[in-house]
Amino acid sequence: MSVTTRFAPSPTGFLHIGGVRTALFSWLFARGRDGRYVLRIEDTDRERSTDEAVQAILDGLSWLGLDADEAPVYQSARSERYREVIDHLLAEGLAYRCYASKEELDAMREAQRARKEKPRYDGRWRPMPGKELPEPPAGVDPVIRFANPLEGEVVVSDEIKGVTRFDNAEFDDLIIARADGSPTYNLCVVVDDMDMGITHVIRGNDHVANTPRQVNILKALGVEPPVYAHVPMILGPDGVKLSKRHGAVSVTEYRAMGFLPDGLLNYLVRLGWSHGDQEVFSREEMIQHFNLEHISSSPARFDMEKAWWVNHQYLKQAPHDILVPELVWHLQRLGIDAESDARLPAIVDAQRERCRSMAEMAEKSVFFFSAPQEYAEKDAKKHFKEPAPEVLQALRGRLAEADWQAEALHAVVHEVAGANELGLGKVAQPLRVALSGAAVTPPIDQTLALMTREDVLARIDAAIVWLSANADAAASS
Ligand code: GLU
Repeated sequence: MSVTTRFAPSPTGFLHIGGVRTALFSWLFARGRDGRYVLRIEDTDRERSTDEAVQAILDGLSWLGLDADEAPVYQSARSERYREVIDHLLAEGLAYRCYASKEELDAMREAQRARKEKPRYDGRWRPMPGKELPEPPAGVDPVIRFANPLEGEVVVSDEIKGVTRFDNAEFDDLIIARADGSPTYNLCVVVDDMDMGITHVIRGNDHVANTPRQVNILKALGVEPPVYAHVPMILGPDGVKLSKRHGAVSVTEYRAMGFLPDGLLNYLVRLGWSHGDQEVFSREEMIQHFNLEHISSSPARFDMEKAWWVNHQYLKQAPHDILVPELVWHLQRLGIDAESDARLPAIVDAQRERCRSMAEMAEKSVFFFSAPQEYAEKDAKKHFKEPAPEVLQALRGRLAEADWQAEALHAVVHEVAGANELGLGKVAQPLRVALSGAAVTPPIDQTLALMTREDVLARIDAAIVWLSANADAAASS
């Protein structure tokens, strides 16, 4: 059987990382089985759906590289098709018009509650053999209800939860079209899953209650229901469903914090799924190993520290064509346009070991693009004291003439240290502060080599000027 999966987000806010995990599972399942993966935008709720939310979903998925095999299907463009299916159900006697007013339904439920019964629609407008229905009241637009089977059971086989049986007697007749003719949520999902040929529905646990109803409608339409896999929710560290309260939950925030697409996906794939005790997977490995059998039936807790660790594993070895554009994006956010800078691959290599996020890499790389506006107070205090002025002067003299490549620059720093009988730190640290504003940079020779002689000399000069201007203050402190 060929496999087709879908991701069906409702565009009512940001793209939640729980949704990303659902998308990832669906995508991996299809990719690993030569299958089809499609995106469906569930935007029938016109009041809550926004174009910005649709764009956030498309941008997020594209950043993550979770590409769909076809153009997205928008539910808002399919009203006619839903109407057609509703008409078919009506014509076949599988659905019916219900004219009950809100007041009537309220009174009905009230009476049921009084009798300690579960409130539910009592089927008063449902045609039955031998039953006489009232005359439809004039001027009332009816809703349309699905005639749920009255007997027997619905069997939902779920790849994660196992087989669950529901008694049809538990379900009342679901409204599938509102009085204004618009189709309701479950009807749209069913028609879409049917038309898109979905074989495996992988979605959040929060949809479990809809499933038996959807299965019944599919069966009424003569369609074999898909295989379902309801994935347990992601919990926050406190064991409560992950939400904004716990911090970042939208994929955009994860990008801004400095996650890499594969770092985030690798962390998410392990949230509730396992392959032995392997933690780091290439995308190919995820595709190769992912299966529904190893999705845990209990919810997983989000662990930010682990997410950063996984991200760093990627950052250390990801290719330039992933890291460079991401660094450019983060630098842009810091007001630096570095797009065409030829040094970017080398900057990435100089920084990747020491940064666990791309945001951190960008912050630590700003000085490659603009001179420090100030010196970190603590670093200046510690590294600009004696004999820093003389050291910087000596460095300036040598660097003005040095051959501008890492090995020669390395030799200069060592020679200045040797000539002044100083440890390497006493030379490299003031130089770092002068160049970057702080005492942390990649190895000093690499740092120098990534800058121009002109910039380096200008920054040393600025530091010397600053030092003499601040000498009195320094001496008195
Ligand atoms: N649109 C639903 C959601 O965003 C998903 C529906 C489904 O996967 O069947 O939660």
